[in-house]
Amino acid sequence: MKLAGFVPLSLCDYPGQVAAVVFTQGCNFRCPWCHNGHLLPLIGTVAGIISEDEVMDVVDRRRRLLGGVVVSGGEPTLQADLPRFMLRLKELGLSVKLDTNGTRPAVLKLLIAESLVDYIAMDVKAPWHQYSLLTGTDECDINAVQESLALVAASGVPHQFRTTRVDPLLDEVDYAEIKRQIPESSPHVWQDFRSAYSLDPSLRAEAAAVAR
Ligand code: SF4
Repeated sequence: MKLAGFVPLSLCDYPGQVAAVVFTQGCNFRCPWCHNGHLLPLIGTVAGIISEDEVMDVVDRRRRLLGGVVVSGGEPTLQADLPRFMLRLKELGLSVKLDTNGTRPAVLKLLIAESLVDYIAMDVKAPWHQYSLLTGTDECDINAVQESLALVAASGVPHQFRTTRVDPLLDEVDYAEIKRQIPESSPHVWQDFRSAYSLDPSLRAEAAAVAR
């Protein structure tokens, strides 16, 4: 696993659980508001790399305190050895939550089929017709994201869909459209946009101007 960040204890990243959070390196999106720019290249800087064994060691020592581990990113489903890593966590008796942008439905299918994931949080970032623009890539496979959404909604695995409210880029009409894209039976949460570290410098500048 290419890991680039680790928070040994969090009370807010896994609903109902005290959890550790591990951040994988690499993402196939470039969302303008992303505040984890250092995690996006597939190859991270040596300074940011954390070994899998190091993470497992800390998690193992703290497992009486922890209910679960959140595997976040970057985009975790890009990592070929994600199922093996999640199995390692499960073998410690921990619940595993996956944060995903939904671009790899085949990986989600496997994780669900093998009971390797206990909670899925999937981003629904924009109205479908604006997805490429809002994810900063021309290569966004919208069919794959839609397949993942349907898969997660029908999986029986506890889950939530989530959307960051990026007011400089989306408006109320867009938010209403996003809401319609979410299956009614699935929970959906809105997340606040934290502009200070946005990937797109113009979003940072806009926030600074509003604050003045
Ligand atoms: S916010 Fe977008 S670019 Fe950043 S890690 Fe998530 S999916 Fe990737």
